[in-house]
Amino acid sequence: MHDRELGILLPAPGFQQTLPEAKTWCGFLERCLENSFQEGELSFPTSGATKHVTGFAAEDGSVVVFLGGKPELDQGVDISLLLPILAAAFEGERIATVAEGTTTVAKQAATQAKLLAASLDRARIELRHTLGEARRANAAKDRFLAVLSHELRTPLNPVLMAASAMETDPNIPPEIRADISMIRRNVELEARLIDDLLDLTRIANSKVQLQRKIVDGHELLEEATAVVRGDPSAVQPAIVLELGATRHHIDGDPARIQQVFWNLIRNAVKFTPLDGRILIRTKNSETGAFRVEVIDTGIGIAPEALSKIFNAFEQGDTDINRAFGGLGLGLAISYALAELHGGTLRAESAGVGQGATFVFELPAVEHSAIALEPATPAPIESDCRRILLVEDHATTAALMARLLRKRGHQVDLAYNKTDAIALGLRDEFDIVISDLGLPDGTGFEVMEALRTKSRAVGIALTGYGMDADVAQTMRAGFQFHLTKPVDAQKLYQTIEQIPTAQFAQE
Ligand code: ADP
Repeated sequence: MHDRELGILLPAPGFQQTLPEAKTWCGFLERCLENSFQEGELSFPTSGATKHVTGFAAEDGSVVVFLGGKPELDQGVDISLLLPILAAAFEGERIATVAEGTTTVAKQAATQAKLLAASLDRARIELRHTLGEARRANAAKDRFLAVLSHELRTPLNPVLMAASAMETDPNIPPEIRADISMIRRNVELEARLIDDLLDLTRIANSKVQLQRKIVDGHELLEEATAVVRGDPSAVQPAIVLELGATRHHIDGDPARIQQVFWNLIRNAVKFTPLDGRILIRTKNSETGAFRVEVIDTGIGIAPEALSKIFNAFEQGDTDINRAFGGLGLGLAISYALAELHGGTLRAESAGVGQGATFVFELPAVEHSAIALEPATPAPIESDCRRILLVEDHATTAALMARLLRKRGHQVDLAYNKTDAIALGLRDEFDIVISDLGLPDGTGFEVMEALRTKSRAVGIALTGYGMDADVAQTMRAGFQFHLTKPVDAQKLYQTIEQIPTAQFAQE
């Protein structure tokens, strides 16, 4: 490469490899640095002939090389031809000064070498600057995804809550209920895509925190399979479950492990024709690990795609995938979750049309040594609670109030921070359910104002599901955090697990 501005030749990448002389020169210069002085026969790039050279190492690590080694030196050699070799030999890290023996040429060479070093420094600064820009852009992308997901989730909230409440309402005729179920499923699907985007940013920033406990892998797998099987929206291929593992307890985050199971089973269903078959089986590996295999007879995976499908946004055959939809995030998230649990996830397929097998392995733990937590807490009797609902989104507020009142609770509404604090201080409430973004402030401020003066338990309601948001709600005094869209059942459960006795005793 010729840098016109500097008027010198700069080493091209791989220069050292392409010019055999560079290696000899490199050895010579290194010996010169070691011994301060070195003499030898070296070939010169243009002539191809060897010349006698003498090299002196200066204290600053630069090297002065004399070609010919005598005062009456060869004439007509362009010094700039040698500079790239020397620079490449030192990989641009040290300045090599070369001279043909006369002082003028030595000076000229030294100047050129300095210019070369300065241009390397500039390149390094630019590189650092570009890296910084890239890091800033990445952080901006994460923030954008968090805000985007919040904005996308908020309007889903009332739809999902209304749909799940109507679905169980006996007064709604069955044919309409089927449509409502369809609406709920589609909204849930959209919420899942948004969740995947959020998960991806968390994983990329190592922000996923596992809520570990000892769980029965078989129970989780059965539940996940039942959910996929129970989806009335689709006629699907037969799913056979064979639970063969004898050691099936694992130390992990049940919600995250189920997420991996769902992803694998849903993919198997998605990519297998109706007359195909899906076998989900468990066994213990030779090392005793709990192994889940999801085997399907579906469209299979081409060998070149096998390693790529675990990358984010990567899908197998793009034409086929366009027909199936999806963002290509499920496997990337599942892979990271498997690793976080100290496990592995891999795919096998004999090729397109040959079906696929996904193998998910997790370390198994000894069952007898542990006291298992009950799968579901004992149901608590539903009593009337006095609820202060703080929500500025009028439709969401009205709908939630209606649902909660129907459930037998007493609800007061506030649409902003000021009213919420005034109401909360004036009346006795059992529970404060608050959105976090309010027109005149935040839900955090509401909770902070009420926490010492009211006995109400706080439930934060927000579309932001990032870990930092959850931590912040806890710091502000909320005891529960529900990420939008919350379905009605989850809201009821959260409310009803807050014991009324807590208030009666005080
Ligand atoms: P998505 O399903 O949303 O595209 P995933 O990350 O779950 O994203 O899967 C990535 C890709 O891996 C899919 O698009 C598909 O090409 C391939 N794949 C996953 N599971 C299977 C399967 N059981 N059979 C064939 N291909 C699969």
